[in-house]
Amino acid sequence: MENTLHIIGGGMAGSEAAWQAAQAGVKVVIHEMRPKVETFAHQTGNLAEMVCSNSFRSDDSEQNAVGLLHWEMRAANGIIMQSADKHRLPAGGALAVDREPFAQWVNDTLLAHPNISVDYGEITELPENGHWIIATGPLTSSALGAAIAKETGAESLAFFDAIAPIVYAESIDMDVAWMQSRYDKGETEEEQKAYLNCPMTKEQYEGFIDALMSADKTEFHEGETAGYFDGCLPIEVMAERGRETLRFGPMKPVGLTNAHKPDEKAYAVVQLRRDNALGTLYNIVGFQTKMKYGAQTEVLRMIPGLEEARFARLGGIHRNTFLNSPTLLDNQMRLKSRPNIRFAGQITGVEGYVESAAMGLLAGRLAAAEIQGRSIETAPQNTAMGALIHHITGGAEAKTFQPMNVNFGLFAPLEDSGIKGGRRGRKDRYKAYTDRAKDEFNQWLEERI
Ligand SMILES: Cc1cc2nc3c(=O)[nH]c(=O)nc-3n(C[C@H](O)[C@H](O)[C@H](O)COP(=O)(O)OP(=O)(O)OC[C@H]3O[C@@H](n4cnc5c(N)ncnc54)[C@H](O)[C@@H]3O)c2cc1C
Repeated sequence: MENTLHIIGGGMAGSEAAWQAAQAGVKVVIHEMRPKVETFAHQTGNLAEMVCSNSFRSDDSEQNAVGLLHWEMRAANGIIMQSADKHRLPAGGALAVDREPFAQWVNDTLLAHPNISVDYGEITELPENGHWIIATGPLTSSALGAAIAKETGAESLAFFDAIAPIVYAESIDMDVAWMQSRYDKGETEEEQKAYLNCPMTKEQYEGFIDALMSADKTEFHEGETAGYFDGCLPIEVMAERGRETLRFGPMKPVGLTNAHKPDEKAYAVVQLRRDNALGTLYNIVGFQTKMKYGAQTEVLRMIPGLEEARFARLGGIHRNTFLNSPTLLDNQMRLKSRPNIRFAGQITGVEGYVESAAMGLLAGRLAAAEIQGRSIETAPQNTAMGALIHHITGGAEAKTFQPMNVNFGLFAPLEDSGIKGGRRGRKDRYKAYTDRAKDEFNQWLEERI
């Protein structure tokens, strides 16, 4: 097999993957369709263009999981972080950048690299031979999308995400909520208690519906069709169809007995389902929404038991091409059915500039090592990069898989830390997570290049 690495898509992930592999001494060709073929969101022909906001979110590497991901990418000499640091704008604790010079610098640096060339044009078929990374992002061109769907099965490639909000389990009030599957269905006790239930009285339900209908909503971007299907309608759209629709849909109270008040029949019940193998995250079943983030937090905290809820991610519906990675990819990011092809970036089911670039960084390093005959492990699970890759290729529920941001709910709990609960305890725990991650990430870097 030839030793060149071909990367389809020169966005956040493709640019970082190219840089990492080229720095390791591998020849790289980036196949980028822009500016010849445009997307509705990109404005230029530059590599690593930021399509919307200019923020890389929190830069706090001690108390924030995305800040930790920044730290790991800096430690691995990532080009996206180099450019972000060079073009940083004042933004408090967040890392905001001057978008045009940011992308221009990445573009120029990659084009000047002796190991990198760019071939401008759309790739429409899956490559048969050679080493490839597909990093075509949420707006993968339709021809390539169709080719991927042909290989993976149409049901394994989504063109929209419909994300229900995800809550940290520890922030749910279990004096109000209880564990039970509807009609106690399931063979084992674990299955019979698979759902977490939050009960509502008639008054609470009516107040919730009012708040839902009057909440601020996000509009679809221009060029994005509002073609969501009946199976994943936003809750506010369901509520607009009739005040009782949710009570006969995702909030139906049947088959459930309140473990705290067995004699009280709930008027409506909100159910949450485990979202990861660790049991640290729960998604609110059927609650995909286009409410704006601020409004969403306010409305969701009206649900009894979720008054103090902290959200690992809020809900949304977007145009987004992504794979069912838990079933399709191995932990080296290779397509199981065609191991010469890796996937990276948002198409793997991560969400956001930073997460996408981080998955590019990993894919670039793994591909370069394979081409050079060095076998390396993927990033350790206790690092931010490792937590993400383990989630999308294994820890997440394949059946309900939706894109994920990095967050501390993806991290394995600390053993015997002696750290107490509450706000103060959380601060100590996050510091312990990030210390552990930094140590393990440094070791991983030393072990390999
Ligand atoms: C409208 C919109 C707004 C967003 N806003 C934000 C935001 O504010 N903050 C945030 O963190 N994330 C945002 N995202 C998510 C964002 O797209 C990702 O975070 C990030 O850009 C993904 O990186 P990527 O490398 O996977 O994809 P991209 O950065 O999109 O890069 C993919 C590249 O592949 C190219 N390509 C596609 N198909 C082909 C093909 N067949 N052949 C050759 N090249 C191809 C594209 O031209 C593009 O350059 C937004 C996404 C969309 C769609």
